[in-house]
Amino acid sequence: MDKQVFEALSAESLPHRLGGNSALREKIGGDVSHWTVKEIGDGNLNLVFIVTGSKGTAVVKQALPYVRLVGESWPLPLKRSFFEYHALVRQAARAPGMVPEIFFFDETQALIVMEYLTPHVILRRALIDGRELPNIGCDLGLFAARTLFRGSDLSMATRDKKADLALFADNVELCDITENLVFSDPYFEADLNRHTAPQLDPIVMELRSDRDLKVEAQRLKHLFSAKAETLCHGDLHTGSVMVTDAETRVIDPEFAFYGPISFDVGMLLANFWMSYFSQSGQESTTGARDGMRAYLLETIETIWETFRSEFAQLWRTERMGILYQARVFEDRNDPLGAEQALNIVIDDIWREMLGFAGIEIHRRILGLAHNADFETIADPDRRAACESKALKLGRHLAVNRHRIHSLRDIRATAERLQ
Ligand code: ADP
Ligand code: MG
Ligand code: MG
Ligand code: MG
Repeated sequence: MDKQVFEALSAESLPHRLGGNSALREKIGGDVSHWTVKEIGDGNLNLVFIVTGSKGTAVVKQALPYVRLVGESWPLPLKRSFFEYHALVRQAARAPGMVPEIFFFDETQALIVMEYLTPHVILRRALIDGRELPNIGCDLGLFAARTLFRGSDLSMATRDKKADLALFADNVELCDITENLVFSDPYFEADLNRHTAPQLDPIVMELRSDRDLKVEAQRLKHLFSAKAETLCHGDLHTGSVMVTDAETRVIDPEFAFYGPISFDVGMLLANFWMSYFSQSGQESTTGARDGMRAYLLETIETIWETFRSEFAQLWRTERMGILYQARVFEDRNDPLGAEQALNIVIDDIWREMLGFAGIEIHRRILGLAHNADFETIADPDRRAACESKALKLGRHLAVNRHRIHSLRDIRATAERLQ
C-alpha cells in the first residue's frame, strides 16, 4: 500500500490495496486472485477483516477516523492504532505467547496485520453460553502480573520507562473516553447514558444521589489519570480475550496508557462478577447455571491469587528498577524489609482494584457501552433483576473497598445478592 493519505479499506478493495504487502503475502499466499475477505468487526471502534489465501489466513485490523458505533459525528484519531501496535509489541515481550503475533504495521493507514486466532472465540461469548474454560484464571492472572510488573518502575530502566510514558501519554482521546464514560457519566444524567427503564429507575436515582459513591468514583478517576505506574492494557474486559479450552489470548489494547497496576485487574474481575450476575438471566430453568456460577467465583479467585503470587515471584526475582531496591533491603541483610514492602504494595493494588471493579460494573449498566452478558437477556424484567444485583455489588466494592479484606467476603456478598 503506497498511499500517503489514509483511506478506509473495504472487503472489495483489500486484495487490490494489500496485494503487494510482502508480510501478508508470505502468511496467506501471494496469489491475490485466490484471496477471500470477510469483515467481522463486532467491536465499537474499528474494522476487522479476515483474509484467506491459498496458504493461510490473517487478520487485518484498521482504525477509522471516528467511532464506529456512533458514526462520523464522533471523530477519534487514527493514532490509536499506533498505540495498539506498540502495546502488543510490549505485551508479547512481557507475557510471551499471550497476544496474537504481529506481522505488519502501517501507521498512515492505521492498520495492523496479525495472526488469525482460530478456533478461538471471544471469552464473553463463551461465558454467556455457559462454557467453563479450565485455564483462563491462571492465564489471565499471569498475563496481568507479567505485563503490569514488567512495564513499571519496579522492573524497567527508568530512562526506558520515562520514554515509554512520554510515548503513550499522547493516547489522549482514548483516555478521555475512559475518563468520561467510565468515571463520570454513570453518576449523572449524561446524554449518552442509557439503562433498562423503567425497571432500574429507582436504583439509578439512588446511586446518582449517593455522595460517598460519587466521591469514590472521582478518587478512582484521580488515580486513573495521575498514577502512571505501568503500561496498562486499558480495555481488559472479557470481550478483549479470545479462548479455546487450552489457550488464552488477549487482544485489542488500543486504550493502552500509563496508569495504576490495579486498573486492568479491576476491569477484568468486574467482567467476571457481571457474568456471574447475568447467569440467572441466561439459564433455562432456575438453578441450571449453578455450576457455572460456582466456576465464575472460583475463576475470580484464581485470577487474583495467580496475579498475586506471580507478582510476588517477579518482585523477588526481577526487581531491577528504581523502586524498593535490593541495595536497601536484601543487600543489607534485610530480605524481610522487601517482603514487608511487597505486602503494602499488594494491599494498595487490592483496594484500588476493588474500586475500579465497582465503577466498571456501574458504567456497563448505566453508561453508553453496555455488555452482551446483560444485553442478550431479552426480557427487560429479568435483565433488570440481574443488573440491579450487579449494581449493588459495584456500589459495595467502590465504597467499602478499604474495609473488604478477602474474596471470600465478596463471594458471600455476591451469593447473598444472587
Ligand atoms: P475493536 O477495537 O473494534 O473492539 P477488536 O480488536 O476487539 O476490535 O476486534 C473485533 C472482533 O474481531 C473481536 O471481537 C474478534 O471477534 C475479532 N478479532 C479481532 N482480532 C482477531 C484475531 N487476531 N483473530 C481472530 N479474530 C479476531
Ligand atoms: Mg474490542
Ligand atoms: Mg469486541
Ligand atoms: Mg478496541
